Amino acid sequence: MHAYTLIAPGKINLYLEIIGDRPDGYHELIMILQSIDLADRLTLRSNGLQKCRLSCSHPQVPLDETNLAYRAAVLMEQEFPKEFANYGGVDITIDKQIPVAAGLAGGSTDGAAVLVGLNLIWQLGLTQLELQNLAALLGSDLPFCVSGGTAIATGRGEKLDQINNLANLYLVLAKYDSIAVSTPWAYQTYRQQFSDSYINHLSGIEAKTHQVHAGPLVGAIVHKDGAKIGQLLHNDLEKVVLPAYPQVAQLRETMQQAGGLGTMMSGSGPTVFTLCESREQAAEIQQKIRQKLPDSDLQLWVAQLSNRGIQVETAS
Ligand code: ATP
Repeated sequence: MHAYTLIAPGKINLYLEIIGDRPDGYHELIMILQSIDLADRLTLRSNGLQKCRLSCSHPQVPLDETNLAYRAAVLMEQEFPKEFANYGGVDITIDKQIPVAAGLAGGSTDGAAVLVGLNLIWQLGLTQLELQNLAALLGSDLPFCVSGGTAIATGRGEKLDQINNLANLYLVLAKYDSIAVSTPWAYQTYRQQFSDSYINHLSGIEAKTHQVHAGPLVGAIVHKDGAKIGQLLHNDLEKVVLPAYPQVAQLRETMQQAGGLGTMMSGSGPTVFTLCESREQAAEIQQKIRQKLPDSDLQLWVAQLSNRGIQVETAS
């Protein structure tokens, strides 16, 4: 096969708790990550050259070495020089559907898709775990993006424990087009403002004592109790992002009042989501929000939770 089209789903955080600093500069986290069916589509096609090239449908996405899809290709070239020399490079085309810098792991899922795609084109036979180990070299969210579904993520987000499938729940996602939040800024600001409350993970004090309610939320997920899941959503980064972006705070308030099972900002934001029990409820809430906030800058999506990571759509 010389070309693969891959579906690369975005993710939301059902839970994000910062429990401490790490010596490597990252934070020690407890997260519950969930794939959604709002997805990018990537095509990887052999180009017969000794290089990989990148293009993207979204004009704001960088095409240089800061792009995670590009970095994934470079990593694979370095790790598998023989196969790269044999099979040659690929042209990577990203059809961007996931909003950029939105807290939905758009870049990470593109990077994960390139790892999966090159594993197929170069016939490397890497297992999912081997792909996830490579993914962790590129970023904290990438290992989850490879496998998808619902997972507890610890460490800096790269240690994963899969939970069961929640795919029968829906969500409304909302984001102001003009607002982008930098993930490093959000974490740095949190550290400046809240590091006094950290448990020093390295001192041996167990993080358990500090968990807000990750345990009960995992229980609600295992029992597929949508109402409980909605009540137990949690994101520490709201404490820094909402005060700095009052428009996002107001959006969150409006969404919460519109109904559904629960409302929360995803990751470092600024996307806010409301969990819903059906597609009909999600469509109704989407309409209510649109009426209350008729601002044309506000983008709204209805999506379904997904139990899948990177998927092959076509091979030729
Ligand atoms: P995360 O949730 O993983 O922290 P995010 O969803 O908040 O990420 P991205 O959409 O990944 O944010 O974009 C963050 C920045 O990463 C962008 O501003 C862009 O410069 C850069 N970037 C790198 N690769 C990509 C990519 N393939 N798609 C989109 N942005 C990318």
